[in-house]
Amino acid sequence: MTNKYMYFVANWKMFGEPKSLNSLNRVIKFSKLRKTNKFKLIYCPPYTLLNLFSKKLKKTKISIGAQNCHENNNSSAFTGSINAQMLKSIGANYVILGHSENRVSGESDNLINNKIKSSLNNNLKIIFCIGETFIQKKKKSTIKILNDQIVNGLKGIKKFNNVILAYEPVWAIGSGLVPENNELEFNINYIKNIVKKKFKIKKPKVLYGGSVNPKNVLQLNKIDIIDGFLVGGASQNSKKFIDIIKKTFI
Ligand code: PGA
Repeated sequence: MTNKYMYFVANWKMFGEPKSLNSLNRVIKFSKLRKTNKFKLIYCPPYTLLNLFSKKLKKTKISIGAQNCHENNNSSAFTGSINAQMLKSIGANYVILGHSENRVSGESDNLINNKIKSSLNNNLKIIFCIGETFIQKKKKSTIKILNDQIVNGLKGIKKFNNVILAYEPVWAIGSGLVPENNELEFNINYIKNIVKKKFKIKKPKVLYGGSVNPKNVLQLNKIDIIDGFLVGGASQNSKKFIDIIKKTFI
């Protein structure tokens, strides 16, 4: 049970077709009926559905975001790419950057840093993902990895108010595993302290992501310093997604 403002981000990854929009009806109804305004819902569907989501969610308080973007500010000859300006033009307000599923296919800290800058220039808010792999965890290098990802990824960033961090241990994503509460609390505390110290941010926001579901969210909610959840698999089922939100506030 929490009393503070929480973010719930639905990361649909490479799932969804136009007919999947029907599942939003339940969530729209839920968000209208909720009296509390203590949470923010953000849907991040694949690019192909962004426009449809944007239209469907227009008169609601639910925001939309993309799952990645190109680092180039201007339209240019990059086959298959979408930049931040294009996302903004269809009504997106957020973009997930630095997700481990993109880091693993070659995204460097430097590239992610450029994407963050370009997105901030286009007035998008950033959900910046960081996290260690299982091998890094076993080698006890989690803290170093988190430090490097934060320091390099956020180098030269000024509009910090528009950046939300998401701690996603790579080994927890899609695996059904979540860190023990004390480990999670320690790592999130570390992340917040680094950001406060190096970027002079008073109240950084850090979400947790990795196998969040309606069952484990009760346990996760015992960690007071978490500012919300980045939910993959469970967010594609609107009933489960709503359950996660409800259980955060009971
Ligand atoms: P998961 O994905 O909830 O399916 O583990 C989370 C994420 O990758 O953002």
